[in-house]
Amino acid sequence: MSEVKSTNITWHAAEVSHEERQQVFGQKGAVVWFTGLSGSGKSTIARRTEQLLLERRAPTYVLDGDNIRFGLNKDLGFSPADRTENIRRIGEVSKLFADACVVVLTAFISPYRADRDNVRAILPAATFVEVYVNAPLEVCEQRDPKGLYVKARAGKIPEFTGISAPYEEPANAELVLHTDKLSVDECAQAVVDYLAKNGYFL
Ligand code: ADP
Repeated sequence: MSEVKSTNITWHAAEVSHEERQQVFGQKGAVVWFTGLSGSGKSTIARRTEQLLLERRAPTYVLDGDNIRFGLNKDLGFSPADRTENIRRIGEVSKLFADACVVVLTAFISPYRADRDNVRAILPAATFVEVYVNAPLEVCEQRDPKGLYVKARAGKIPEFTGISAPYEEPANAELVLHTDKLSVDECAQAVVDYLAKNGYFL
């Protein structure tokens, strides 16, 4: 991780304590980090989870792969270094959301274990909830919701995760969702249940 470049900068603490903020929001912030192959169901589950959380009036927000690449990370591609920087920036943005007591739902392939662990490491304890969205490659390829696997197999997308670039499975995910066996609703409900059981809602 790179050093801070500026010298004459000071960290300003808020006048409101984190506990006060939690009381107002009625929850602890969290970064629910969905990781998995393209087509495994990260986006779909994140969006359904967002609906379930908003139904219970829990402040939440989805950060989604492609959308971030249109703006914040529009200067980044899919080389290993760019993928790492992509995740680092998303981690920092997620950290701000979590500090604001929002439950952030991120949907990025995030194929490298070290990159995900780095995000976990910059967050306060128990803020990072790693959710492995696990579906076999064959299933993802069959779904191919964006037609990307067809293109990747035809050699039209270089460095495509699962085909020509690696995916490193989580070793200690807080939650594993087998999306070839569970419905979208069951997966989203499992995330909400995890948060409820582990004291994220006050
Ligand atoms: P990703 O964000 O991981 O690339 P998407 O959410 O865009 O994946 O696409 C997953 C596809 O799989 C969607 O077409 C979705 O309807 C389908 N699907 C089938 N079962 C599930 C499930 N249990 N969870 C999530 N998606 C599922």
